[in-house]
Amino acid sequence: MNETLRLYYDNSYLTEFTAQVIAVAERDGQPALALDRSAFYPEGGGQPADRGWLHDVAAARRWEVRDVQSDNGVVWHLLAASDELPALGATLTGQIDWQRRFDHMQQHCGQHILTAAFIATCNAPTVSFHLSERSVTIDLAVDELSEAQVRAAESWANAAVWQNLPVHARFVTPTEIASIPLRKPPAVSGAVRVVSIGDIDYSACGGTHPARSGEVGAIAVLGWSRQRGMIRVEFACGGRVVAALRERDLAARTAAAMLSVGWAELPAAVARLQEAQQALQRELAQTQRDLDALRAAQWYAQAPLINGRRIVTATLPTASVDRLRAIANVIAELPGGIAIVTGGAERVQVVVACHPDANADARAILAAGMAVLGGRGGGNARMAQGGGGQPALLDAAIAAMAAQAA
Ligand SMILES: [Zn+2]
Repeated sequence: MNETLRLYYDNSYLTEFTAQVIAVAERDGQPALALDRSAFYPEGGGQPADRGWLHDVAAARRWEVRDVQSDNGVVWHLLAASDELPALGATLTGQIDWQRRFDHMQQHCGQHILTAAFIATCNAPTVSFHLSERSVTIDLAVDELSEAQVRAAESWANAAVWQNLPVHARFVTPTEIASIPLRKPPAVSGAVRVVSIGDIDYSACGGTHPARSGEVGAIAVLGWSRQRGMIRVEFACGGRVVAALRERDLAARTAAAMLSVGWAELPAAVARLQEAQQALQRELAQTQRDLDALRAAQWYAQAPLINGRRIVTATLPTASVDRLRAIANVIAELPGGIAIVTGGAERVQVVVACHPDANADARAILAAGMAVLGGRGGGNARMAQGGGGQPALLDAAIAAMAAQAA
């Protein structure tokens, strides 16, 4: 089979063309057509495949092109399922989804420029490029990237866009290639397609590009993060800059309206909100401590005085260990007080505390409870703490501890 003549090599603005069907087959479970010539860009070099339609004008039929793949120089057009496919040798009219293609041209050419910018401004080479419908990223072979470095590269890249530099693509021979300052050596042997943007970037590239850098419109870096020893930079070009701005503007405006401020005042408003919340949390914690102390004293007062001991058992299911300890401490500060306080949100927690006058050993009381629960713990005669075991046995464990304390 002859290789497909790639019409986009000479003219990336060609959206309609006629071609002959040179093969009909099935690929990945989809009907696929090979054409003798095509303006459809097959997936490759980090750029996604074109989409569009193939028309048989005479038969008034049309097929949707869902994917385009290249195989040994032949461009295959993968179609939506169809009961009737064009015959071998049929003449079809191809139509490219231009909105999608132009978006790819903007992102792809923008990537060439941003890659050149990172080399020019901070000597950070690009090692890979990824373009999808959702995001565009390059990975830079550096350990760190500062905000200032990112913004310097971004400014450099936009200056190159607005200089409206000519973008040329041509095939050069292996002997000629030595005289061209390529960003990296070509991955293919033989004639190489070299794409130049003014004199700021020379790359071996088979992709589609606009005729001038100005069509990229604008380049905006949207974020960067460490990724497997490299820095991944997410960016947007052209129409995607506007889309990204809209998305961020909507989020910022919504949040600003919730706080009744302008978007520029959002950081200050959020800081105030955080401060107020932290103050409330501190206040709530203090109120809880005060209330716990009052309740602990009340429980102590209500406990019967037997043999010089007042045994208080209390369960606070969601309380933290710190709260349980604080409550037990209040009780153990009072004459004859013995506190058996249990709780804990995820696992059973037990705190036992004894006033010296009570003549009791907190460890022995805790041990009686742990023996029932199957948990573990330790401490000293005044204060012991444990946990774990079977939550369903907690009531029995409390009874065992109260009996040990009596
Ligand atoms: Zn390219």
